[in-house]
Parts: sequence; C-alpha cells; structure tokens
Amino acid sequence: MRWRRGLRGREVSSFKQLLETISGIVPCTGEKDGWRWNATKDGKFTTSSAYETIAKEKREEASCSAVEAAKVWNAPTTHKAQVTAWRSLKNRLATCDNLLKRKIQITDEERWCNACVMAEETVEHVLLHCPKTEQVWNFIQQWINIETVTPKGLSQHFLSFFHASKDKRWRNFLKGLWIGVVWSLWRCRNESRFQGKVWDVQKVVQEIKGRMWSWNSIFHIVDINIPFSSWCSQGMVLDSL
Ligand SMILES: [Zn+2]
Repeated sequence: MRWRRGLRGREVSSFKQLLETISGIVPCTGEKDGWRWNATKDGKFTTSSAYETIAKEKREEASCSAVEAAKVWNAPTTHKAQVTAWRSLKNRLATCDNLLKRKIQITDEERWCNACVMAEETVEHVLLHCPKTEQVWNFIQQWINIETVTPKGLSQHFLSFFHASKDKRWRNFLKGLWIGVVWSLWRCRNESRFQGKVWDVQKVVQEIKGRMWSWNSIFHIVDINIPFSSWCSQGMVLDSL
C-alpha cells in the first residue's frame, strides 16, 4: 500500500490498528460484494446490537485505555510482536476465557492453563501470574537488574515496567523488552497447547535475550559494545539503567 505523503503521529497507530483489524479477514471469491453488520448473526443492523457493541468497547477501554495500548505501536520491535502485545493489553487474545465469552465451545480440560494446570486460562494468568510466567519475568528482571512489583493488571505492569528507567533510550529498550516477553510467552503458550511442546522457562528466557540482541541491532535502541555472551549474562545493563 502506498500513500501520497508519509504518515504522521497518530496516523501511524491508526493505520496499524486497521491492518490488525483486517488481518484475519479472508475475501470470498465468486460472491457479490455487500454490506454486513458483524454484531448480529444474520448480518442485519439493530439498535440494540449497536448499543451492546459500544458498551463492550467502553468496558474494554476501562481495562486499558487506548492511549496506554497505543504506546506499543512506536516500540522498537517487529509489527507481529506489537500486534500481540496490543491485543494482550486490550484483552483480545484467544485465551480460553475469551473464547467462552464468544460462545466458542471448549472442553472442560481445555479451560485450564497448559503450563501449570492450576488455574483457568486468562490473559493475565498466561502473561503475568502463572508460576512459570512469573519465573520468566523474574529472570528477565534479574537480567537487567530492575525490580517491579507485579500488579494485577497487564497495562499497569506494562507502564511500571518501562518507567523503571528515567533515560529515554533505556525506556524505549524496556518497552521493547516487555513486548518481547509477552510475545515469547504467547508463542510458548500456543506451541504448548497446539504442538504439545514442553514449557521450558530457561529456553524462553534465552529466546527473549537473543531476540532483544537482534532487535537492538536492527533498531539501534541502546549503544552496547559487548559480545553476545556478555549480553546474555545476568545484570547485563546494570549500570546503564
Ligand atoms: Zn498457569
């Protein structure tokens, strides 16, 4: 897609949101184009369904404001990772509780978190409070030597995480790191659920460190002239933060 002029400021995040919205749509061939209202089963508009759609959006905004979630779009990461992080902040990932809300049938067994099998699967559980997930966050925090209290909600965690540094460049790095962790955890959840892969905390942590190394070389976030082995060692950015 081409634009007559470059996109500016909020246009960039609006455009990315549009791409995210249409990414799951498969065009039908051999059918005539027409209008369809997605909030009802038969595709016909009703005032009550419009009211419910707006009310639902308001409820979602209450969990994470559009302003907070929009902060992911200018983070130094790949677009795919940004989309996953944005969906997580808006509680739009396909976790079992969200599938049930959409009346998608799942078995009783599937309702549970794959990693610990101790709690029902929600976005907060998978990405923040599952014991395995907590271990990943702990290792990552030790890696860069920051301490944050784990709040209940994901958006508060996101904000407190990248505000751990006062330096603008490091804050940008932390924003990317938060998105990288969320992306890895969600991929891990999918591989475990759909491919039966074993949940390995150390493997996830190494994967995140490696990804941050490559994102840092692509996006030039922070200047660190050290070999990869030192990058991966604990307390890596200790003094710079
Ligand atoms: Zn769990």
